[in-house]
Amino acid sequence: MKMDHILIRYGEIGVKGKNRVEFEKLLVRNIRQALSIFEDVKVKRTFGRIVVELHGQQHESVTKALANVFGIHSYSLALRVENKVEAMQKGAAFMLREGNKAQTFKVTTRRAYKPFPIDSQTLNREIGGYVLRRSSNAVRVDVHTPDVEINVEVRESGTYITAGAYEGARGLPVGASGKVLLMLSGGIDSPVAGHMIMKRGAEIEAIHFHSPPYTNERAKQKVMDLARALTSYGTNINLHLVPFTEIQTHIHKEIPSNYEMTIMRRMMMRIAQRIASDRGILAIATGESLGQVASQTLASMNTINEVTTLPVLRPLVTMDKLDVINYAKRIGTYEISILPYEDCCTIFLPPDSKTKPKREGAAKFEQFIQIEETCAAAVTNTETVTIKSVQEAEAAIDDLFN
Ligand code: ATP
Ligand code: MG
Repeated sequence: MKMDHILIRYGEIGVKGKNRVEFEKLLVRNIRQALSIFEDVKVKRTFGRIVVELHGQQHESVTKALANVFGIHSYSLALRVENKVEAMQKGAAFMLREGNKAQTFKVTTRRAYKPFPIDSQTLNREIGGYVLRRSSNAVRVDVHTPDVEINVEVRESGTYITAGAYEGARGLPVGASGKVLLMLSGGIDSPVAGHMIMKRGAEIEAIHFHSPPYTNERAKQKVMDLARALTSYGTNINLHLVPFTEIQTHIHKEIPSNYEMTIMRRMMMRIAQRIASDRGILAIATGESLGQVASQTLASMNTINEVTTLPVLRPLVTMDKLDVINYAKRIGTYEISILPYEDCCTIFLPPDSKTKPKREGAAKFEQFIQIEETCAAAVTNTETVTIKSVQEAEAAIDDLFN
């Protein structure tokens, strides 16, 4: 006997009514993508569950890969047996032995396949009784706080027996909520914002402003590495690299220093809006947190937000920096974010940025900038690279050799 299956439960998407089938298909697609490096592994959809067949693949690496897939509520290693009582009994006894040192247990049966002739109450008794007879004297049933809960699910394709579960990443399957353009710097915050947006089911494209030669290749590589880290939670990511040197030098020359930062941000926002609109993307996301720095006061947000009609999603808006740092560590972006690099926003950073910039003030100074032409040129000169997920990159290498 061998636990050669993984039973996947999905929470939130179970309640989505008519859209449910679409959601399930997306989740299956994303699970397949996440597991595509495991050649023999198969992913199948049954009623209300997704089943992974391991076909001999070690489960440790598969369960690890599943931990990153949004839309999964929980998942369990499962033993699949025939829809026969004796097979269920033997399977349950096997599962108790697997749960080393378990002294107490409980059997919970779910008869998802109604044509199966025996009801779940009877199955609980039949299976539980058998397990008791087969175990040492010390083992007993505890229906309230058992050491091991043996779950028996009778489905059309077979009966799946599990004991215990891994926690899933929850959220919604990436792709269910459309696309968001993430403003990705090389800092700690914006990758976290990207992760949170993906968790709500949105695919992301990323936009990054850089100012060569003031920012170097390494800074660009860093942003690409951050985007790649995010692909492990979803699909490939298009990264738009916008040349920002000219705009910044121009602003530095023409705009009073206390409004430089505000106007630079407004330009970024305008360019992001154009790129989003060109690609049918309906929202922009940033890693801003209320009050963190001068550019993130309410007055700043208000003045910067004026130039776009797209919703600007700020998932970190209420978070403390320490919480963001812990989150970044957990999702694997922190170590990349703390590498030294030059941020284009800080290269000419004036010491006297206004913490309360006004819309009228910004508009007055922007008369010195050819907004339309400048933004259009930046968009034209934008370089777009597709950051492939690790899985996809490995599959491509395999193809080369096949
Ligand atoms: P982060 O850690 O994400 O860089 P931060 O706390 O350093 O954030 P800022 O540098 O003020 O804050 O940036 C606020 C937000 O503006 C960032 O989270 C990001 O979404 C966006 N942003 C800043 N710099 C860039 C850039 N060079 N390219 C794209 N987006 C940027
Ligand atoms: Mg920053």
